[in-house]
Formats: sequence, C-alpha cells, structure tokens
Amino acid sequence: MKLTWNGEITSVQPRFRLLRSFDQRHHTYLGYAIRVRGRIGERDGEAWFGVGKAAHQKYQFEVGQAARGQAQPVADPRLEPVDYYKVSRLDIEPRANSPDSPPPWYGPAPSIDVYRQRGHRRLAARSYGSRSCSACIWGVRMPVEIILDQWKPDQKRFRYETFCYGPKSCPLYRPGPTRKVPGRRGMTYEEEDWVDIEETSHRGSDD
Ligand code: SF4
Repeated sequence: MKLTWNGEITSVQPRFRLLRSFDQRHHTYLGYAIRVRGRIGERDGEAWFGVGKAAHQKYQFEVGQAARGQAQPVADPRLEPVDYYKVSRLDIEPRANSPDSPPPWYGPAPSIDVYRQRGHRRLAARSYGSRSCSACIWGVRMPVEIILDQWKPDQKRFRYETFCYGPKSCPLYRPGPTRKVPGRRGMTYEEEDWVDIEETSHRGSDD
C-alpha cells in the first residue's frame, strides 16, 4: 500500500549501501535520499524517501523545494537509509530558496559519479545527527551489511555508518572513532585513518 506525502525538502543526499567483509568493502549505488518535512500519510513529521537517478536528473531536488508524491514503506529497513521508496506521482516545485552560505552545502546534489570520484571519509555519528551534516549534500548515512565469514555468507550483521564526501577543510567535520568490523572466530578489523587519507588523497583541502 502506498501512502501520500507532501511538504518541504529538508535534505538531499546520496542513497548508497555498504557491504563489508573484514577489510574489504563494496558500495551499491541506489540513487538519492530526500528528506521531507510535512504531511506523511496520516501524520505530521519528517521522513526520508528514496528516489532514482533519473528522477534527480529531471527534478534537481534541493533543500527548500515543495514536493508531493506517493511512496511505499521499505521492505527491509536494515538495507535502506530511507523510510519509503518506490516513489511515484511526484510533483516538485521547480525553484527552491535554499540558503547559500556553506557549510552545510545545499542546492542540487551532484551526480552519483561525482560522489564516487570524490571518495568519502568517516563522519562521526554525532556530527551527522546535527541538523547541519544530515542536511548537507556531502553527508550520507549508509546501511551496512557485514559478512562475518566469507565461507558462511549467511552469517551477517547490520548497522549504519555515516560518511562525508565534502571538502576536507569543512570546519564542521569530525571523524569520530575508527570503525571496527567483526570477522570470523572473534577477529576484528580496524579501519584506520590511512584508509580515509588514501581514499581522498586526490583532492585538495578545499575541494
Ligand atoms: S562535515 Fe561534511 S557533511 Fe558535514 S557540513 Fe561539512 S561537508 Fe557537509
């Protein structure tokens, strides 16, 4: 069953999923997540909606736009960063009044290829929990699927991790503690700082 929703867009971010297997990681690029504050079904509040690349190309979602549509609750919340997906009957106000004084960065989110090319650094969950990073086009909250033992792929854990694709000089950036990934026989992999340094080494501090 689809519900109807309408309100104002309060965030546009990438909608990516992360698969971890000890020190290996693999991303799945699902599209974009838009957060809407307004009427969500029968309640007033805020919710995240998953939309595809084609919809973003057409509407250029950005903070401040008025939006309405229909959507369906996600089947498995462990695998999705959004509350609803399969969005249809979209009606988007063409122009927004998003403020332009970063950070955080508003305006239309870039293409998925731009995010992939930039690479990310871990972002403290607490920083993401602030209104700034959860509204910034460079912030992202990814559902993470962890394969504990590659020989027993049905043994999994799920969690969420937050990342930043933004400029390395952003004054709001806080990395938070290193991420630990459980593995087989009680082993743990620690993703140290050099992983983020290497992933973003092709960018200057203001890029
Ligand atoms: S730390 Fe990252 S997500 Fe947060 S405001 Fe800065 S660029 Fe945006």
